[in-house]
Amino acid sequence: MMHAPTRKPIVRFAPSPNGLLHLGHARSALLNWRFAQDHAGTFLLRIEDIDRERCRPEFEQAIFEDLAWLGLSWPAPARRQSDRFDVYRAALTELERLGLVYPAFLSRAEIRTLVREKEESGEAWPRDPDGAPLYPGTERDLPADRRAARIGSGAPFAWRLDMKRAIEGLKTQLLWQEAHESGGDGAAHPADPAKWGDVILARRDTPASYHLSVVLDDDDQGITDVIRGRDLFEATAIHRLLQEILGLDQPVYRHHRLVADESGRKLSKSDADTALAALRNGGSTAADIARMAGIGAELRPFPSPA
Ligand code: GLU
Repeated sequence: MMHAPTRKPIVRFAPSPNGLLHLGHARSALLNWRFAQDHAGTFLLRIEDIDRERCRPEFEQAIFEDLAWLGLSWPAPARRQSDRFDVYRAALTELERLGLVYPAFLSRAEIRTLVREKEESGEAWPRDPDGAPLYPGTERDLPADRRAARIGSGAPFAWRLDMKRAIEGLKTQLLWQEAHESGGDGAAHPADPAKWGDVILARRDTPASYHLSVVLDDDDQGITDVIRGRDLFEATAIHRLLQEILGLDQPVYRHHRLVADESGRKLSKSDADTALAALRNGGSTAADIARMAGIGAELRPFPSPA
């Protein structure tokens, strides 16, 4: 159900502690914060730390410090996704029961080789909106005994969504509500998850990918408005599909423009000089950060990147 416009908004800033926050994160965090302030809503912090190899406690600590320095506060304790693996596992089991996920054994290198061979033989291979080749789906219909034998042999695998089947099961046209970062109801935007192919929803040792955990937590925390960067605009189609299959609430989405570096490229966690901690140590104030992150600079709706 779409939330009623009269309901007080609940928003969240949801960083992954796999690096230091930079100006782009500050923009997201401050837009969420301001939206909550402007509409008498609630601002939540969620630590998206499902990737146990890349996430580190010192980065989580830095997130708390950077946000507090910017003047933000949130109900404590902040939610940590690593505390919710049971919930994600249950959803994955449900998707398995519905026959909508399958264990996929091809490694990234094997996918690349297979796709290169196809392309060399003149077959055009589709790419997802991020430019990665779609999964070939080789093991989608592997017989149950061969599947079990491969899992039993300890072969690494990922749980992938059977996209075609999932879309076939939809009862209505898939849409999402896209609105401006600062307010308004926006407009319905068609969602086309097929562009992504058989996306990964979990791995052998991690019961959720970003796509699965984010929709479960947005629903569970009653998030009414998802304010996040435009780099996640296309992924929203996957999120809507999962919400529909799992019977989860859909928030209004408000994708904001990204902060670019001097050469016009999107900022990354590896650029040390746009890290908030580095700017702070260099003498910037919280107000300088807001200005550098473009907060308040523009209020016109951005065009859909689709
Ligand atoms: N954890 C995601 C990130 O760091 C944010 C996901 C979201 O806002 O939906 O980019």
